[in-house]
Amino acid sequence: MSGAFALPVFPDSTFEVYRIIEFEGPFRDPEHLIPSATPDAIKTTRTYSDPRFFDQAEHKLIMAFHGIVVRTEKSVILVDACLGNDKHRPMVSEWHMRSGPFLNDLSGVGFTTDDITHVLCTHLHADHVGWNTRLIDGQWVPTFPNATYLFGREEMAFWEQDPDANHKSWQDSVQPVLDAGLAEIVDSHHEIEPGVSLLPAFGHSPGHVMVKLEANTQGKTQTAYVIGDVIHHPVQVEHPEWSSQFCWNADLASAMRQTVLETIADNGSWLIPAHFPTPTAVRVESGHDGFWIKD
Ligand SMILES: [Zn+2]
Repeated sequence: MSGAFALPVFPDSTFEVYRIIEFEGPFRDPEHLIPSATPDAIKTTRTYSDPRFFDQAEHKLIMAFHGIVVRTEKSVILVDACLGNDKHRPMVSEWHMRSGPFLNDLSGVGFTTDDITHVLCTHLHADHVGWNTRLIDGQWVPTFPNATYLFGREEMAFWEQDPDANHKSWQDSVQPVLDAGLAEIVDSHHEIEPGVSLLPAFGHSPGHVMVKLEANTQGKTQTAYVIGDVIHHPVQVEHPEWSSQFCWNADLASAMRQTVLETIADNGSWLIPAHFPTPTAVRVESGHDGFWIKD
């Protein structure tokens, strides 16, 4: 499944938030992504019996890859650039040499590549930088020529030491942006404009950042967090201590997950992770048996 639609997070406000989907569906055995989610352990979760999040017939997590577009009065900000087309990723068949309709879907909700003013990669894993660039006449060029690409200082410092990591995505999706002079290296605390700020969320990767959005809506301040891979899958809402095998520092990742859940639970804040399937934007409540998604 692909496509694009508005998320219902800021009704009657100057902010609009859209989800541009590259892929959604059953993706991996739970244990493949999260080693603690063994066949016995996953059966004890609420996730297991929620068909939005788990496919029992295939015994697979339902996951998505999508970018989030935030339109404010001043800016059009793409948070996370997903997989991209034509990228050589032979280790992951779903990522390899894609030819998906992401840019058509983006224009379907009203944005051309020229309209994007900022691109923010929460971190530099291959599934978050893909659309930074596209292949034109055999060259990787920035997809969004008018954008400032914001990269976190700590994240850049770590991966520039190892440009062959992350399926070599640095070479086709980060270096061309640097070469074009479109990159701005920012601190992990950084305000893009009032109501749109980066916050440090280290753990899944060494310099992972998330975006806090605040806007006045229907007479009160509404908050949403676009959190990248702080939480990969809804099963980690009920088990924040379960880190993915792709987390750089599992203990730090799980502590960050817990902190974010405590920050947003029970107060109406929206959570918008990079891989949650539909409905993607969720609110969380806490109870005697931990956190879960509010219906
Ligand atoms: Zn990811």
